Amino acid sequence: MQYWRSISLWMDQLDDDLAPRPALSGSLEVDVAIIGAGYTGLWTAYYLKRQAPELKIAMVEAQFAGFGASGRNGGWLMGNLLGEDRALAPLPAEQRKTSFDLLHGIPDEVAEVLHREGIDCHYRKAGILYCAARYPEQEKRLREQLDGLHAEGLTDADYRWLTPAELNGQLRVANALGGIHTPHCATIQPAKLVRGLARTVERMGVQLFEQSPATHWQPGLVTTAQGQLKAHWVVPAIEGYAASLPPLGRYQLPVQSLLIATEPLSEAQWAEIGLEHGQAFSESSRQVTYGQRTADNRLAFGARGGYRFGGKLREDFQLSEEEIALRRYLLGELFPQLRNVRISHSWGGNLGMARRFRPHMLVDRKSGIALSGGYGGEGVGASNLGGRTLADLILGKESPLTRQPWVLGDGPLNRLSTWEPEPCRWLGYNAIIRSFVHEDRVLANPHSAPWRRAMALKLADLMEGLMR
Ligand SMILES: Cc1cc2nc3c(=O)[nH]c(=O)nc-3n(C[C@H](O)[C@H](O)[C@H](O)COP(=O)(O)OP(=O)(O)OC[C@H]3O[C@@H](n4cnc5c(N)ncnc54)[C@H](O)[C@@H]3O)c2cc1C
Repeated sequence: MQYWRSISLWMDQLDDDLAPRPALSGSLEVDVAIIGAGYTGLWTAYYLKRQAPELKIAMVEAQFAGFGASGRNGGWLMGNLLGEDRALAPLPAEQRKTSFDLLHGIPDEVAEVLHREGIDCHYRKAGILYCAARYPEQEKRLREQLDGLHAEGLTDADYRWLTPAELNGQLRVANALGGIHTPHCATIQPAKLVRGLARTVERMGVQLFEQSPATHWQPGLVTTAQGQLKAHWVVPAIEGYAASLPPLGRYQLPVQSLLIATEPLSEAQWAEIGLEHGQAFSESSRQVTYGQRTADNRLAFGARGGYRFGGKLREDFQLSEEEIALRRYLLGELFPQLRNVRISHSWGGNLGMARRFRPHMLVDRKSGIALSGGYGGEGVGASNLGGRTLADLILGKESPLTRQPWVLGDGPLNRLSTWEPEPCRWLGYNAIIRSFVHEDRVLANPHSAPWRRAMALKLADLMEGLMR
């Protein structure tokens, strides 16, 4: 269990002894079999049981509940969905507003469940601060993003520009040029959420088997080394691990995100930094950075990681010196006073990226398969929406949840876009990431010639275009 505790700061902080639940042995007949005990599987089980307590539900988990991204993430519980702008753009304004309201309501919905079920996961809803600080192009990019959001009908109540003075009132980063605040996000302690959910669904009667990797699945059947689940419905909920269980790997690319956390900082240090209400923060770079002030006063800070050839999963998240150094550098640029602070934890995890770079929820009634995923690193809130939506789809309920553009409706799995074969995936993904790192390096250097800045930006724009 010592290894399990070491997978993230969050697991290390738990009082939970992480004693393993029993493994599946023998054959069991259930209504719904769920593969994977992360947020997606657990939220699906939760909302199914809430609406239909008589359902027999069993879950098999390869390691233990929360072993995946759900026990390792940055703890941003966002009221949005990756690619929502593209998904919602074609809708009439009124319908788009309904969809935005649904997304923005995710943190409040989670808060309600936490309250109802007595789960304490350090939930604080103080929104996100997206800041521009390291180079002027960041300000331009953020202002364009804000214009785009407002053009979709969102208002200052959803996304508001902050002058440098206003940003400094909440977060004091070096050389602040301005930023955006959105209230639609809470921060949480991820492992406490996933472990709390696991206990909750068990209390509701869900059978959860740990150390039981599914070795094979097909409609109506999930097989493990020592047992099997026969089920009317199968819900594969393995997100970044899809590559390990055919045929899911065709639809989801496993990419990594990596974090560091400082030792607890003093009150004086926090007085210099801010974030007194637990706001999440990010700096506007295509390296996708994210941070939060933890309940025990550390600064947890992450950035996008790599992709391995052939979709090979990364198992070992002992970060290399280079991986830690990049995160330390980015953190030190924002908070020069933290350049020499001790980093107490570093870790990472696998997440799933869909080929369309948009999440999806779908059901195949004929085969009895329901699936939600492709969150692309923004799955903490999205998985709650996914779980709620899958519950309605499985129960055959038409609801506002099932009428959203990210719900692909009834039909076979192979409607999902597939990733290109190797080496195209590896070359493509790495070219994109390298262009982002290059852009960041050139723009962050005040001595870079204007033509170099323009070239670096153009190249990264072009590469980002490939992701759309
Ligand atoms: C480092 C990191 C930081 C992130 N930060 C954020 C953030 O701040 N905000 C945000 O919104 N999103 C973030 N994400 C993404 C978010 O954490 C995920 O989208 C979300 O947790 C996915 O939940 P899930 O249940 O679908 O998958 P997971 O939590 O990955 O759960 C899948 C489970 O399936 C199990 N499994 C795998 N194979 C099998 C098998 N064969 N049989 C049985 N079980 C199996 C795994 O052990 C795992 O427990 C981050 C992700 C990472 C990795």
